[in-house]
Amino acid sequence: MMPQPVAAAPLPVRPDPGPAPGTGTGTGAAERANLLGMARPRLESYFESLGERPFRARQVLKWIHARGVSDFEPMTDLGRALRARLAETAEIRAPAVEAHRTSADGTRKWLLRVDSGNCVEMVFIPEGHRGTLCVSSQVGCPLDCAFCSTGRQGFNRNLSAAEIAGQLWLAVRALDRPVTNVVLMGMGEPLLNFDAVTEAIDLMLEDLAYGLARRRVTLSTAGVVPAIDRLARRAPVSLAVSLHAPDDPLRDRLVPINRKYPIAELLAACRRYAEANPKQKITFEYVMLDGVNDSPEHARALVALLRPVPAKVNLIPFNPFPGAPFRRSPAAAVDGFRERLNAAGIVAITRRPRGDDIDAACGQLAGEVIARAARVRRAALAAVP
Ligand code: SF4
Repeated sequence: MMPQPVAAAPLPVRPDPGPAPGTGTGTGAAERANLLGMARPRLESYFESLGERPFRARQVLKWIHARGVSDFEPMTDLGRALRARLAETAEIRAPAVEAHRTSADGTRKWLLRVDSGNCVEMVFIPEGHRGTLCVSSQVGCPLDCAFCSTGRQGFNRNLSAAEIAGQLWLAVRALDRPVTNVVLMGMGEPLLNFDAVTEAIDLMLEDLAYGLARRRVTLSTAGVVPAIDRLARRAPVSLAVSLHAPDDPLRDRLVPINRKYPIAELLAACRRYAEANPKQKITFEYVMLDGVNDSPEHARALVALLRPVPAKVNLIPFNPFPGAPFRRSPAAAVDGFRERLNAAGIVAITRRPRGDDIDAACGQLAGEVIARAARVRRAALAAVP
C-alpha cells in the first residue's frame, strides 16, 4: 500500500555538496554509509556489522522513506547510543536541489546536483489521480540515441542507489500529492546500471518504504538484451522498450545499441520477459519523426513485428531540442499511424507532450554533465552483464 505522502518539508538546497558517496572523489576521510540507498537486505547487514539486531533495518527504513526524516535524532525507537553512533558513521543524503520549475500544465522538473560537477533531472507529471515521477539512472547516457537530448550530453557515471531512490525520497517530501507511479525513463539507460537500479527498485516496492506495486514501476530500456533477462529474474517490474523503428537499418541509425542487439534478439528477450510476467504487456515506445519513421509502411512493418509479443505502443510526438536533426511528425501522420496499429489489434496511444515549455518532455532532459572520454563511454557499454 502506498504510504501517505509526508507533509511537504523544505527541500535541502545546497549549492555544492561536494563529492557524492561512492564516486571515488572524496577527500580521503572515511566515507559515511549513506543509508538512503540501502534496501532491506543491505541495511540488515549494515546493522549486523554494528553488532545490532537486523530488525533495526525495518525501523530505519520506515523512518527514512515512509516518514521522510533526514537525520537520526527523531528516530526515537532507536536507543540514544545507537542514534549517536549512526550520526557519526552514517548519513541520509539525497541529491541536492539546484533548481526547480513548474510547467503551465503542472509538470514539475527538478535539477538535482549529484556531485560538484554534475546534475541530473527529475520530472513529476500529474494526471488526474495519477502522479508519475520520472527518475534518472545515470549522469548523461552512453547510448547516444539520435533523437535524444540526454545522449547529446555525453556520459559521466552511474548514479548510486541512494541517488536514484533519493529522487523519489525528495519528490515525496516536496509534493502535496502522492507519487503513484515511478518510471525509470529520465537520464540514462537503467540496465547499464543494473545493481544500483534494482536496489532502488527494491526500495520503491518495499512495504516499509514506498510500497508501490510492481506494475506501477516501469523500467525503460533501449534494449540491453542480457540485462532484460536478468531483470525478469531479479525485479520483474513493468518493462518499456524504446523501439522507435521497425527494421534494423533504421534502428541502427536511431538507437545505436541496435547494432549490438538487433531487433530479433530484442523481441525474443521481450517474449521471454512477457512469459515470465504473463499479466503484463510490454510497452513499446515509438518517437514520431517527420519523414523518418512515420509512414504507413513503417506502421505495417511495426504491426508485423509486434504481433507475436503482448504489446502496447506509446507514440511519442518528437520533442525538439536545440540542434535536433529531426522534426515532429504532423498530427495527421501520428493519428494515421495510431489508427493503423489499433485496426490491427495492437493497442496504441499517443502520449500527450507534457512539460515541453520547461524542457521536461521525453527526450529533452539534459541536466549538467561533464562528459568523460570516449573510453569511459565504451567501458560503460562493455559492462553489459
Ligand atoms: S533515449 Fe534513453 S538510452 Fe537513448 S540516449 Fe536517451 S537516455 Fe540514453
